[in-house]
Amino acid sequence: MTKIKAVIFDMDGVLIDAREWHYEALNRALGLFGMQMSRYDHVVTYDGLPTSVKLSMLSRERGLPEKLHPLLNDLKQQYTMELVHSRCKPTFQHQYALARLRREGYRLALCSNSIARTVETMMDRADLRRYLEFHLSNQDVTRAKPDPEMYQVAISRLAIAPGEALVVEDNENGIKSALSAGAHVLSVAGVEDVTYSAVIGKIRELEGQHA
Ligand SMILES: [Mg+2]
Repeated sequence: MTKIKAVIFDMDGVLIDAREWHYEALNRALGLFGMQMSRYDHVVTYDGLPTSVKLSMLSRERGLPEKLHPLLNDLKQQYTMELVHSRCKPTFQHQYALARLRREGYRLALCSNSIARTVETMMDRADLRRYLEFHLSNQDVTRAKPDPEMYQVAISRLAIAPGEALVVEDNENGIKSALSAGAHVLSVAGVEDVTYSAVIGKIRELEGQHA
């Protein structure tokens, strides 16, 4: 019998509508060197991957010189931070969902392919950090999603069985990571789908109860 004890959230596209910010920031940095990425490529191929992985893919596929990676990476993070400071704000729907899940005894954590500073700034600005027991960034693991490492580390830190975790994810790389770690997955199309009733509905479905 399934019993869910913890809910682990992805960040981008789940709790923070940051896909567009990452796209804008990366393109602004690439634009300085005369390169652009289409919105289609970003959504279909690159979404949810760390910047370093996106840059390696651009070097392989489009000949971006590797020696530009450190500079592009720094610029991209700086531009992301500017967008976060101007656009990232608390949303009632997410504060309510996390607060109520927590009050009902669920343990909450976050696993993001972003760097630690981005995760911390976004969680602070969205006022969600206080509901989370901990968060993991791509700097806490050796292999980012789609590798299962990040969810495996989170599950062992929670000291629960993989089948007791429900992961909320919005893209293929994250879903693959969570399923390979043995967790259950609630797949969402975007931040607007992440509500208390969607999460509790999935938990009841998994636990075989019908509300
Ligand atoms: Mg995501």
